[in-house]
Amino acid sequence: MKKLNAMDLYDIRAQLSEEETIVQDTVGRFVDESVLPVIGECFEQGRFPDELIPQIADLGLLGSSIEGYDCAGLNAVCYGLICQELERGDSGLRSFVSVQSSLVMFPIHAYGSNEQKEHWLPRLARGEAIGCFGLTEPHGGSDPGNMKTHAKRDGDDWVINGAKMWITNGTIADVAVVWAMTDEGVRGFLVEKGTPGFEAPEIEHKFSLRASITSSLYLDNVRVPGSAVLPGVTGLKGPLSCLTQARYGIAWGAIGAAQACLQELLDYTETRELFGRPLNHNQAIQIRLADMARRITTAQVLCMDLAKLKDAGRLHPTQVSLAKWNNVRMALDIARDCRDMLGGSGISVEFSPVRHMLNLESVITYEGTETVHQLVVGKELTGVPAF
Ligand SMILES: Cc1cc2nc3c(=O)[nH]c(=O)nc-3n(C[C@H](O)[C@H](O)[C@H](O)COP(=O)(O)OP(=O)(O)OC[C@H]3O[C@@H](n4cnc5c(N)ncnc54)[C@H](O)[C@@H]3O)c2cc1C
Repeated sequence: MKKLNAMDLYDIRAQLSEEETIVQDTVGRFVDESVLPVIGECFEQGRFPDELIPQIADLGLLGSSIEGYDCAGLNAVCYGLICQELERGDSGLRSFVSVQSSLVMFPIHAYGSNEQKEHWLPRLARGEAIGCFGLTEPHGGSDPGNMKTHAKRDGDDWVINGAKMWITNGTIADVAVVWAMTDEGVRGFLVEKGTPGFEAPEIEHKFSLRASITSSLYLDNVRVPGSAVLPGVTGLKGPLSCLTQARYGIAWGAIGAAQACLQELLDYTETRELFGRPLNHNQAIQIRLADMARRITTAQVLCMDLAKLKDAGRLHPTQVSLAKWNNVRMALDIARDCRDMLGGSGISVEFSPVRHMLNLESVITYEGTETVHQLVVGKELTGVPAF
């Protein structure tokens, strides 16, 4: 019998089209050659490797699902594989692409005016402009309905006041998609860097996603023209629809982080000798490795099904919640267990599991905490919202 690929026990790769295979290989090569050699040091230094943005843009990874506007127009499997390969490198890099693609370009494409699309989408696709997505507020991200940031009309302008917290890319963003309460309900605004009253300082001293920029947004009487509002959506369904796109990518991305950890463990336990034999000759170690492969395989199969639903236009947000919950929990558990099996070496930046583990502590919290996704599934089952 042919030996199976430890990272792909159900041979998902054989299901991929030629285009999907090329996308996976191309992004995988980029991660191997350009990300892995620098990412440990970036994490240690708390530095986002922004020098990689032009390469990411050249590969067509920004807004890859959008057709036109200099975007690649790829399908859902391709977007998933992009996230998976990037997160095999680091969750911070995948976060950068998720935010730019799903949380900034998606709402401009879905809800923006023609002028907004033509002005921003090609620049964002080429990496010449960076975007961020401001939904979470300091008093509680799980309850976006309780939004304090508000915008009031003043003649043809809007005046926005409020604060956002934990905003990926905020400090380097040329444009912030800011969600604010208005008399009509929640609306999205495109706030440009340098607008008077708008500040985006970086949040320092993080233990997680250290190779990613996380910021606060402060809006103090920020005046924007009427043309800055996203005309196509009113209400929380605007930001929530963006989150469904991003969470879909996160479910795939988590697989990459888990694969990176398992691959490193397979290599380590093969060469580490204890009690006169390689570590991987112990039943207790093999059971733990097998359990990781079981959980990764389950997550891969789940994501392929999710991609089919997405491309068929039948994706339900609850299905995405279930996948984000399942896959991020899987990856976090695997990263922690790999860290343990590396012994003392497991706390060193030389090995990736501790970095993935710390990153995944953010990934399990952002874009809806694990509990929130469990409650979404609970609501689907019972019909009762328990938030
Ligand atoms: C590194 C990082 C990057 C981020 N990037 C962005 C970004 O780009 N844009 C953005 O808008 N946001 C971003 N976020 C914010 C993220 O989405 C929020 O942190 C998340 O939604 C949780 O909100 P919170 O931190 O206010 O926690 P809270 O909402 O205060 O939750 C605290 C705890 O209470 C639990 N909880 C909440 N409600 C219930 C309930 N009804 N029943 C039981 N338990 C409950 C939660 O699960 C959690 O454990 C980012 C966060 C991080 C850490």
